[in-house]
Amino acid sequence: MLTYVNDSQYGIPRKCPCGGSIINEVSRKEENDTVPGKRFFTCKNYEEEIERLTKRVVEAEEVMLETTKLSREMERLEEKVQSLCEQVEYLTVHVGRLEKVCFD
Ligand SMILES: [Zn+2]
Repeated sequence: MLTYVNDSQYGIPRKCPCGGSIINEVSRKEENDTVPGKRFFTCKNYEEEIERLTKRVVEAEEVMLETTKLSREMERLEEKVQSLCEQVEYLTVHVGRLEKVCFD
């Protein structure tokens, strides 16, 4: 907390550490607001940063959804491969029997 107190001695900064300019704001009256009209400041890049992060979250959610779909598809394909292996085994046994009948 000492660093906050120390920073407050310099007032509102002119530039954000990210390089963006500072916007001075006053909070609107909200329900249950104990300090209406309080002043605060944000970085000009704040909205863009929130927008960029929101976009990344949406992209990550799409990837997660796609991963779930691919996982289900893989399970379905594995079952199909298993079924095909059983059919090949069955046919191999029958071919063996037919070869014995025909060529022995
Ligand atoms: Zn900034």
